Amino acid sequence: MGRTEIKDIGEFRLIQRIRDRYSKPSEFVPRGIGDDAASLNFPPNHLLLVTTDTLIEDIHFTLKSTIPYLLGAKSLAVNLSDIAAMGGIPRFFLLSLGIPKGYSISSLDRFYRGVSQLAESQGVFLVGGDLAASSKFIINGVVIGHCPPDQVIYRKGAQPGDYIFVTGPLGDAALGLEILRKRGLRPSDFGANGKTRGKDKELLGIIRRHLSPPARVREGRKIAELACATAMIDISDGLLADLRHLIEESQVGANLWLDQIPRSEAFEKWAPLYHLRPIDLALSGGEDYELLFTAPKEILEDKLSRSREIDLPFYPIGEVTPHSKKLSLWTKEKKGYSPSWLGYDHFRGPPKRSLKKDPQHS
Ligand code: ADP
Ligand code: MG
Repeated sequence: MGRTEIKDIGEFRLIQRIRDRYSKPSEFVPRGIGDDAASLNFPPNHLLLVTTDTLIEDIHFTLKSTIPYLLGAKSLAVNLSDIAAMGGIPRFFLLSLGIPKGYSISSLDRFYRGVSQLAESQGVFLVGGDLAASSKFIINGVVIGHCPPDQVIYRKGAQPGDYIFVTGPLGDAALGLEILRKRGLRPSDFGANGKTRGKDKELLGIIRRHLSPPARVREGRKIAELACATAMIDISDGLLADLRHLIEESQVGANLWLDQIPRSEAFEKWAPLYHLRPIDLALSGGEDYELLFTAPKEILEDKLSRSREIDLPFYPIGEVTPHSKKLSLWTKEKKGYSPSWLGYDHFRGPPKRSLKKDPQHS
């Protein structure tokens, strides 16, 4: 059989194909794909949470350094992560694509398999989208979730004296991107279903953290149910950039303890080979998609000790201070630290200014 391309099928058959293969019937969705708008059920008295994120070819990814399955999973994961960061329950999503006419149907199927496998595991339903021909591959996701109003957690609310926690090791995704840049992706690295296949298992595991980040939905819910977090955000732009967002919204400051920032074993082994200052990957590299939250330490520990499911890792990495917008980094020896870069800003590009020149930083 020859290679079938998007243009051989056309928009309406393509929508039908997506509908047949990747949308599942659900009590939550009286009407999904196929009408002018989807109609949705969600628990009464819950707050509705809505978020959107876009991935653009050659800005956020290149087709030669990922595979369709992992790209599909990532498109959904980055949106689920935003709902997780509010403490919410994601339930529905819409996925709109701009696709080059010559893209193959089999690649598009693998893309949607990556999407739907993650969707199924998280109990979220595809309820619509849009398709357009485009010179680059463009993906826009919208996720709709909900949350009991007394459990939702915002970026604002952090109080001086709170501890700052993260849900997992940082830096792997940024290291994965460094490795991809230097080593490239080989056809034998991943199977069509996204499983690591090549012999460099550990390196591929790190690369995978960049290509297909986690969505800490379960963790976000757990934090919400513990009902003691004062503020929360997901780490998409980098620990420093996202912590800065949180302290600005909360009008507080923060001390970060560098030696407490969790890093994976694989990171400790490989990061020094790919970066002069590995800690900067954990501080400023983005896309780890772990959750960052603040909470009064004693109350959190007390609640965790009384909860039966304490299998969730929370790492304390610093504390909230009353000094509005002042972010200070401390080494184990209690010396101030200035990272070489701060994080990525889409419109400004990589910052040239380092924290060293920031007058606020002593
Ligand atoms: P309209 O012109 O009214 O926007 P469309 O033909 O674009 O209608 O879409 C028809 C139906 O197919 C809608 O329910 C829409 O949500 C759904 N749909 C379109 N593209 C996609 C897609 N990529 N994934 C899922 N559903 C889609
Ligand atoms: Mg449309």
